[in-house]
Amino acid sequence: MLPSSLPSRLRALALGAAALIVPLAAPASAKPIPGVPADLERAVDSAVSAVTPDVIAWRRDIHAHPGLGNHETRTAALVARQLRALGFDDVRTGIAHTGVVGILRGARPGPVVALRAELDALPIKEATGLPFASHVVVDVDGKPTPVMHACGHDAHTAILLGAARVLAGLRDRIAGTVMVVFQPAEEGVTGETYGAALMVQEGVFDTLRPDAIMALHVEPGPVGRIMVRPGPFLSSSSAIHIRLKGRQTHAGRPWEGTDLVNLSADVVKALTTISARRVDVFQFPNVVSIGALQAGNRNNVLPGSASLDGTIRTFSLARRDALKTMIRQSVEGLTATYDAQADVSFEDQALVTSSEPALLARMRPALDAAAGPAGVDANALLRGAAEDFSAFETQVPGLYYILGSTPNYTAMDAAPSNHSDKFDIDEAVLPIGVKAQVLTALSFLGQGAASLETRPVETK
Ligand SMILES: [Zn+2]
Ligand SMILES: [Zn+2]
Repeated sequence: MLPSSLPSRLRALALGAAALIVPLAAPASAKPIPGVPADLERAVDSAVSAVTPDVIAWRRDIHAHPGLGNHETRTAALVARQLRALGFDDVRTGIAHTGVVGILRGARPGPVVALRAELDALPIKEATGLPFASHVVVDVDGKPTPVMHACGHDAHTAILLGAARVLAGLRDRIAGTVMVVFQPAEEGVTGETYGAALMVQEGVFDTLRPDAIMALHVEPGPVGRIMVRPGPFLSSSSAIHIRLKGRQTHAGRPWEGTDLVNLSADVVKALTTISARRVDVFQFPNVVSIGALQAGNRNNVLPGSASLDGTIRTFSLARRDALKTMIRQSVEGLTATYDAQADVSFEDQALVTSSEPALLARMRPALDAAAGPAGVDANALLRGAAEDFSAFETQVPGLYYILGSTPNYTAMDAAPSNHSDKFDIDEAVLPIGVKAQVLTALSFLGQGAASLETRPVETK
């Protein structure tokens, strides 16, 4: 054991000396990690163990004090304070409202790698019963609104703070630069631009352009299991808004007006039929769902207006645009047969989230080492969820992976999903996440120029 009172540089030197004295020591993981010598990996292991109590404390503190998108001021302040205390070379705040970016320069020049976490929580009343459950209620348009970290962003922020501390302690060993990106509003805020997209619009990468960006997301699954796949992983997301107008009439005499209730039903069926019958679902899976339908409020009145709101999810932007065209044609055709009027609009919310295949291949040994016995599923199933991480991927190549986190008190097939009011994680996943973020960053930087043989994912 080294005395923890030693300055970190001396500790790193001492650890290096220990590695020299015992040259035949087995590497920390079974397979070598490109760019991460075995002694550095062992230093990461002990630094991750040392930071874990703080990561757990940060996660609980952030969980108990969540903020809605673009209002994560408390969490953003905590992040900025920690990064400054760690001696980050630059800490920028207030990006895209509440975003924070920290820059850590290694001892020697090299590539730039970015790691991302999200700051925001959701308008959900927490029902986990955890001792650090959120009791926060905020005012949204005059309505009291409970707030909960129901998507695990509390864990992501704590994990990235832990990784920042580990990497800061190892900066003597780093050739290159680490950029930590804490983004607001990943879940979206009605009428406002998504957090990552706004950071990009505000030029977050203008002064320092990362060569790659990486992010993880907790989700129910075996604890520590890493789920990833080359190419598209999470779907794009585009909202559908349909507004129907006609002539209101007595429900007993539908021929005297426009039956928008029947038209709405036809539209719902037509849209789901388009996604199943008019496109090649073997080439790209897709879903078209109507989640909100409002038409009329009495049994004996046919209303003069109706609205339908839904979503398009797919894995190709060409497919997304083809679906938009077909949806518009279908709604307009049906509306004409009812002698009504329709207004159809779309709102793109997220692009396809992918892992650039060459980048994933280079990072695979680091992910294997982080996952340990839980393993890596490198051919995980496509997901019909969306992420605005995809906005960063329009700028630089990305790696996006999911970290299994089902709490140990829950059966694997009964774990509440992300966005459930009972969503929780097993905190054993926190050090695994820290290790994954640290090892991927070190491996990327340690591979130097070889890491740069990647390219941004296709976004058009
Ligand atoms: Zn979410
Ligand atoms: Zn999320």
